Amino acid sequence: GRMGYAIVGLGNYGTRQIMPSFVHSRNARIAALVSGTPAKLERYGAEYDVPTTHRYSYQDFDRIRDNPDIDIVYVVLPVSMHAEYSIRASRAGKHVMCEKPMAMSAVECQSMIDAATAADRQLMIGYRSRFEPNNIHAIALARSGRIGAHRVFDSQHGFAASLQSGWRLDRSMSGGGSMMDIGIYGLNAARYMLGEEPTEVIAMDATDRTDPRFRTVEDRLLSTLRFPSGAVAQLVSSYSSHHNRYRLSGADGFIDADPGTPYEGQRLRLKAGDEDVRDVTRPVGPREQFAGQLDHLPTAIREGRRNIVPGEEGLADIRIIEAMYRSAAERQPVRLA
Ligand code: NAD
Repeated sequence: GRMGYAIVGLGNYGTRQIMPSFVHSRNARIAALVSGTPAKLERYGAEYDVPTTHRYSYQDFDRIRDNPDIDIVYVVLPVSMHAEYSIRASRAGKHVMCEKPMAMSAVECQSMIDAATAADRQLMIGYRSRFEPNNIHAIALARSGRIGAHRVFDSQHGFAASLQSGWRLDRSMSGGGSMMDIGIYGLNAARYMLGEEPTEVIAMDATDRTDPRFRTVEDRLLSTLRFPSGAVAQLVSSYSSHHNRYRLSGADGFIDADPGTPYEGQRLRLKAGDEDVRDVTRPVGPREQFAGQLDHLPTAIREGRRNIVPGEEGLADIRIIEAMYRSAAERQPVRLA
């Protein structure tokens, strides 16, 4: 049978992207809902056939322990609530899927990992691009040697935040600005395309602090990362301009993902050796990356394998983002362990 997910947080991403993707999944189903708003529990409970016995408030949350229909808890809350609900879910004996960015700090990430380990349950971070055919193909091309030695990765990710962007513009709930929310896609792609971990980062914060959107969080963050192979990455993250692309350039060509990590419409181009740039975009099924992400955790659990984007993967990104913020604040490079 399909494994049952409890969806925690019935906001934009949960209700508009995640929940409608279950119909395309093979081994996952919506088993329960958790919300502080009774009207949402009623509306989505009816829409997704979730019985009233399987609808929870935040006060009731720990009672999920007694519900064997719930195998996995999917945390789709503001970042400041990720650690608390992931840890409570682990303690209730459930596997956890937690949205990106994993948590407010590396310390919080580690406590989530520890709670899952103590409960002998899996923890997976919602890095959907790892299940999207063009990103999967881009990784294979990067590993194939077709573009020669990796030299430069560059990426720009951003959108124009509005004053209505809610918790995202409040550092106490988001942990940071554009880098935590959208720049993280470029950082994660740098790591999965290069297949190595950065040793040093230098970052510049270019935020207009008189802009009312950016009282507590950064707008533009420009970061340069150095990798052990000699490759470098340049990342632009923005809350005031639109971008969504990455490119890995090597001695013999490049892999260009533009757009790279949106919900749909990825395009992939390859230049290898003397070959002209050609379109190598893969066909993508409806909501394929979301369904693939939802199916991956049940499969990993059944097969007794670790999922491919565990807590350690989320922690690695948060550690680097903390180093970026420190570098920007101190105006000097920061070494990574
Ligand atoms: P949202 O504001 O639309 O939803 C957040 C939900 O949390 C709301 O339903 C809100 O009512 C609920 N909530 C509970 N307690 C709250 C509190 N104290 N304050 C504020 N809200 C509270 O946000 P979203 O866009 O759905 O983002 C939710 C999570 O999903 C975030 O971690 C975000 O980074 C992630 N996300 C991921 C992707 C992706 O592509 N992987 C895309 C968008 C969002």
